Amino acid sequence: MESRINKSGFVNIVGLPNSGKSTLVNALSEHKLSIVSPKPQTTRARIFSICNLPQTQVIYSDLPGWIEQENYPMQKMMNDKIRESQADADVLLMVVDGSRPKESSFTLTEECRKLTIPKILVINKKDKIPVSKIDQVKNDLEFYNDLDYSFLVSALTGEGISDLRQQILELIPVHEPYFSDDVASDKPIKFFLSELIREQIYYLFEDEIPFSTFVEITKCKGVDDQLPMASIEATIYTNKQSQIPILLGKNGSKIKELGIKSRIEIEQFLQQKAYLGLSIKLRKDWRNDINFLEKSGVLR
Ligand code: GDP
Ligand code: MG
Repeated sequence: MESRINKSGFVNIVGLPNSGKSTLVNALSEHKLSIVSPKPQTTRARIFSICNLPQTQVIYSDLPGWIEQENYPMQKMMNDKIRESQADADVLLMVVDGSRPKESSFTLTEECRKLTIPKILVINKKDKIPVSKIDQVKNDLEFYNDLDYSFLVSALTGEGISDLRQQILELIPVHEPYFSDDVASDKPIKFFLSELIREQIYYLFEDEIPFSTFVEITKCKGVDDQLPMASIEATIYTNKQSQIPILLGKNGSKIKELGIKSRIEIEQFLQQKAYLGLSIKLRKDWRNDINFLEKSGVLR
């Protein structure tokens, strides 16, 4: 069946930890998909929320919080990821906590100014700003005045969200859908789970491993935060025999670590305890095997 979606695009959300990015993604996409937590830097994974409207598909990406001081390699890596992903987005949302306008990130703004895509300033947490202070807040954020658009919203109460969403929809370019339109909000759970594992592979292994492996969720049972435990199994495919011992590590220590780290992320994402079983399989040339990629959801 031919899709009626004729516009599709990526919307990246950046801003300091705790500015409300995850909450905003949830409000904009009207589904709870990313993890919202009062602790800064909870969202380490790049999580997509795919929102299919009658003619437009919006892919929201809730990125890790920008870190002002790149003191550790991990922090630089996280910032690099933000830089990279900004470059291929269609729209950029810069979120600031309107109740703390003085804390907004200037280095991030400098990075963003270099991009040629439309940029929207989102002043969030309007519900925490006394009406008499609103002009003062806008004044404090004058630095952002050259961005293309500006919206004052509350991701928590939903105030201003539909106007913002409308603006985003207008900026989404004509493009065939990046994801097939049966990927509803509650369906791509396997996609998110494999992304979370893939993310950990990226953190734990160097060089070409992240690029030559592929994660397939082979079992996904009991996913429901009312149930005591979810049961998930995943297979990591690699296209090289020589990478199997690297993935396993000494006495299986690496895959064990990968399992633990991934499980923690998955439990946070599902808001539920989970069992995670990992296995490794050799599959030469999986990149070129269209049937395999289709079956395992990569090409969806
Ligand atoms: P992130 O780190 O940028 O992803 O921020 P989160 O979305 O995790 O939000 C951080 C905290 O701010 C959470 O406690 C949210 O409930 C809260 N928050 C987010 N948006 C709003 C808002 O519009 N108003 C208020 N009062 N709190 C908000
Ligand atoms: Mg977050």
